[in-house]
Amino acid sequence: MAIQKKKTSMRNRSPEERVKNFEEVPYGYNDEEAIQEAERCLQCKNSPCVGGCPVEVPIPEFINAVTEGDFSKANEIIKRKNNLPAICGRVCPQEVQCEKVCVMGKKNEPVAIGRLERFAADYALKNDKKTVAQAPQGKKEKVAVVGAGPAGLTAAADLARAGFQVTIFETLHKTGGVLRYGIPEFRLPKSIVDKEVEAIEKMGVEIKLNVIVGKTIMVDELFDEMGFKAVFIGTGAGLPWFLNIPGENLNGVYSANEFLTRVNLMKAYKFPEYKTPIKVGKKVAVVGAGNVAMDSARTAKRLGAEDVYIVYRRSEKEMPARDEEIEHAKEEGIILKLLNNPVAIHGKDGVVEKMECIKMELGEKDKSGRRRPFPIEGSNWFMDVDTVIV
Ligand code: SF4
Repeated sequence: MAIQKKKTSMRNRSPEERVKNFEEVPYGYNDEEAIQEAERCLQCKNSPCVGGCPVEVPIPEFINAVTEGDFSKANEIIKRKNNLPAICGRVCPQEVQCEKVCVMGKKNEPVAIGRLERFAADYALKNDKKTVAQAPQGKKEKVAVVGAGPAGLTAAADLARAGFQVTIFETLHKTGGVLRYGIPEFRLPKSIVDKEVEAIEKMGVEIKLNVIVGKTIMVDELFDEMGFKAVFIGTGAGLPWFLNIPGENLNGVYSANEFLTRVNLMKAYKFPEYKTPIKVGKKVAVVGAGNVAMDSARTAKRLGAEDVYIVYRRSEKEMPARDEEIEHAKEEGIILKLLNNPVAIHGKDGVVEKMECIKMELGEKDKSGRRRPFPIEGSNWFMDVDTVIV
């Protein structure tokens, strides 16, 4: 039988439809598509894909279960190592991890490991009553976990599985951390986050929301007064970085953290159902080209911006966002202004009016392995914008 060189494609909502709402863009595989893709796996003896996965999911084993049509078993195999498979199947950068080292990928496209993981996890969330490994009886000591983001949830589930009594303390009024406030609904539906968190709670993990460890409770109190024997701190990297250029304090300049939090966590996109709107102008510049930048640009488009620009100092080849996100952004009409760097933001009456950029050219590779960008002297130009997202 001839080898299928390319990944089995995944159906997406059309760009025209999706820019009008926050519905998830890819539909995910159906049973036939999943089996077809799983059959591309060579079941390599040394399985480099497993080494490429940060949590060493037994990839060939779960893919084999998919080829046999035993999707629940596939999910159980994944769950031995990964507590959040429906999330990881959607947002893990597989192309630089497991899929990067997939043997199939040497001559053809790698096996779509992420899509298969998502398929198996979604199948189990929909069809399996018992998707959770029960924590063993006879509890060990109490462990506190600070933060209900991906790190905290993962640590909590692993500790519960090992028999510890786990309590998560979360600052916000919702679980999920960056999965909830950072990643938009169209890339990761919050119903999926809810279900994965629910599965971890069913393992016996207690979650306390609205508690700021370090303010409402001190770490010492967790040990001395509340009887925890260990504390895992998984607080993430929530503070934004700014460009440190003139004009960043003008109205209409957001950090991506603020912009995405207000839309995703505070549900600004559901105004007036949720009474927390956000102002998005007609011409929006997003500075940067990682996944957060793509998420911000695509969110701004959905909130009614007419022209949305990605302003990036290197070329498309160096853009750090996932290929799929760049592709989706371009399909949705996001305009790439590459080899450009902002040097100032100009405003009138305290409100953004223009962003001043300088054109860049690429030199030799730097320590990151990417070609270093250099400004082209005298090439400054102005773009008309009313919103800038850093
Ligand atoms: Fe299958 Fe690729 Fe892993 Fe080989 S490296 S077992 S082809 S997923």
